[in-house]
Amino acid sequence: MFTLNILKGKFSLPKALSAEDKKELKHLTDAYRVNKKFFGIDVPKFQVKLFNTRAEFNKEVHQRKTPRWLAAYSNKRRIAIFMPSVFERLTSHRLSAYRQILTHEMNHVFYGNFVGHYAPIWLIEGLARNVAGQGRETNEPVNTDYLFYTYSDKKAYKNKAGAYHLCVENGYYFTKFILEKDGKSEIINFLRKYKVRKDKKVYDLSMKKWVAELKVASSVAK
Ligand SMILES: [Zn+2]
Repeated sequence: MFTLNILKGKFSLPKALSAEDKKELKHLTDAYRVNKKFFGIDVPKFQVKLFNTRAEFNKEVHQRKTPRWLAAYSNKRRIAIFMPSVFERLTSHRLSAYRQILTHEMNHVFYGNFVGHYAPIWLIEGLARNVAGQGRETNEPVNTDYLFYTYSDKKAYKNKAGAYHLCVENGYYFTKFILEKDGKSEIINFLRKYKVRKDKKVYDLSMKKWVAELKVASSVAK
């Protein structure tokens, strides 16, 4: 395992890393820049932990087993991700996605530092996907039933893997809808109010407004 210390977006790559690893890890600079611009803050210090085996990765994230699609895991203090040179062997993703995945994970680091907690799930994942440009186009309407607030929401527990996927998918489109409607200020202003304490009233108020706007927009589209 290699640890990179990132100070206000600055870091140096150890000489021992392969040229392939260095090439991909240089994208960290861009991933930081894009998210700094979105949130308008610097993160003073965090780590990027790079893993060469899934066993080591599992230990880091306190899981006995993790699925192949899980390539990275982040909180406000660190990004845990597989080393580029083992990425295609140990995960179900192509190395060509590494840059976008770094941007996605970096978004979680910034979210954690900006907001201080990790709710709601749909917005955390929706925002990371939008900022990293990981969505795909569809004509499917957003299903707001799947926008979970926390992991303990009933539907998430009923069918954890499938429901989580639907939460992330619908979270992407719902976040995109808000971003296209009002730009990022709507979301930044919400997060500013919401971060003081995890105030469910603040959340419910914004949610009510966004769902109503979505209903109007989709009835106009029909
Ligand atoms: Zn994520």
